[in-house]
Amino acid sequence: MNRSAAIASAFGHFSCAKQCCKNLWFLSNRFLSHPPDPEQSNSAGYPLPVEDVGTLIIGGGQAGLAMSHMLSQRGIPHCVLEQHRIAERWHSERWIGLRFQFPNWSILLPDFPFRHCNPDGFAKGSEIADFITSYAAFTKAPVRCGVKVTALRPAGNPSGFVADTSRGPIQATNVVVATGPYQRPTVPSIPLGDNSVFQLHANTYKSPDQLPPGAVLVVGSGASGAQIAEELQLAGRRVYLSVGRHRRLPRRYCGRDLIWWLSELGLDRTTAEQRGPHKTLPLITGAYGGHTVDFRDFAKQGITLLGRVLAAQDGKLEIASDLRANLEYGDAAYAEFLDRVDRHVDANRLDLPSDPAARTERPEPACVTEPISQLDLRTAAVKSLIWATGYALDFDWIKFPVFDSLGEPNHRGGVTKVPGLYFLGLQWLSKLTSSFLSGVGDDAARLADHIAARKMT
Ligand SMILES: Cc1cc2nc3c(=O)[nH]c(=O)nc-3n(C[C@H](O)[C@H](O)[C@H](O)COP(=O)(O)OP(=O)(O)OC[C@H]3O[C@@H](n4cnc5c(N)ncnc54)[C@H](O)[C@@H]3O)c2cc1C
Repeated sequence: MNRSAAIASAFGHFSCAKQCCKNLWFLSNRFLSHPPDPEQSNSAGYPLPVEDVGTLIIGGGQAGLAMSHMLSQRGIPHCVLEQHRIAERWHSERWIGLRFQFPNWSILLPDFPFRHCNPDGFAKGSEIADFITSYAAFTKAPVRCGVKVTALRPAGNPSGFVADTSRGPIQATNVVVATGPYQRPTVPSIPLGDNSVFQLHANTYKSPDQLPPGAVLVVGSGASGAQIAEELQLAGRRVYLSVGRHRRLPRRYCGRDLIWWLSELGLDRTTAEQRGPHKTLPLITGAYGGHTVDFRDFAKQGITLLGRVLAAQDGKLEIASDLRANLEYGDAAYAEFLDRVDRHVDANRLDLPSDPAARTERPEPACVTEPISQLDLRTAAVKSLIWATGYALDFDWIKFPVFDSLGEPNHRGGVTKVPGLYFLGLQWLSKLTSSFLSGVGDDAARLADHIAARKMT
């Protein structure tokens, strides 16, 4: 039994949520690698007690809660710190009309399926936020909301961590970082030279009426850019969509949803090692009943497609001549997937309807045959620009040497080289579905087993 466990069990408080608050032990500053913090000392200069929570989970989203559930099932004391609310990013960083990309029948957190009336429907973002919040209640997760971890550093004793938080330091033997795969919105450094254009990142976009009247340029053609562009066009806006390289997959094929096919083909179990060079997740949408994304259909509805935005000067954007190539890249991924399914259907003699319509090629729209190389925002009456350009990780606050030159954690399936330090919920943590709602539970169970085994040694 490690030191904190021994002390905590001696006090008889070592089984679950409430115990986190009671597992106090007095951490002498001589154990800390940092000098005494006057704010953490009493008037006599003696250090204040630092709470030991056993295992600390940072982040109260789907990953942190799944982790908490797995630790509870193994009787491992822990505590979850969430800087805002449970499922904060689903509450505040998603737009109102967002639809989940996976059908209702497939939505599941460990021991907790999603309740729905339509298995083939696609949930709203607010329903996902409610689902995750209900999960916290179902699992009785010991979450403390409104507590931000500002730094994670060595405790000074052989195997411990100190988390500096907005409510003071906390000590832990294990730490699971579950702060999300999409932490910091990224925007390319392209000053427009036109201050009259209202600019925002997709994480603060809410609805079409949030934007000033006029045309909208959406930059980025991932899941966010595609859904937002379609929503704006259907709301009557003139929309320009800058399309980058993407890998699109069919929403349905041969009568089955993509998610059914990923499982049937075993692709949802593709490991990080088997992944190959494609790190980006496939482009699908659950909007408007769920449909396959082919940007030529968007053009047919009236959206003007552009290549990537390269630069800007005085409100004039320079556009790359890569639109056709980017569409063809998406087509290749799509065709490759259909071929794979066809081979599987034949080899296994599956009794499913054939689907020749899925291979229908769309005519090239004018914006592809006569691509725009420069967009003058004033002439095009573009009044808003939405950067749907993705997210980056932000782990500057973790003071352990576990990051590569790009700031990405080095780990194997979430286990780092620092004993007791884990990551959960990141893209491709161990497999394709690691950052998906329904995939995080497997990783959480594996990490909980690792922590349990560590506790025994
Ligand atoms: C537009 C969009 C659409 C998406 N659609 C889907 C979809 O259809 N299906 C799907 O499976 N996934 C989807 N995702 C991905 C999904 O949102 C994420 O994978 C998921 O939210 C990850 O859950 P998480 O618990 O790992 O992280 P998060 O949900 O990001 O939760 C992390 C939590 O950690 C907290 N936190 C961060 N830093 C600290 C700190 N220092 N101290 C304390 N707390 C902290 C945050 O406040 C947050 O609540 C989508 C993502 C986006 C952006």
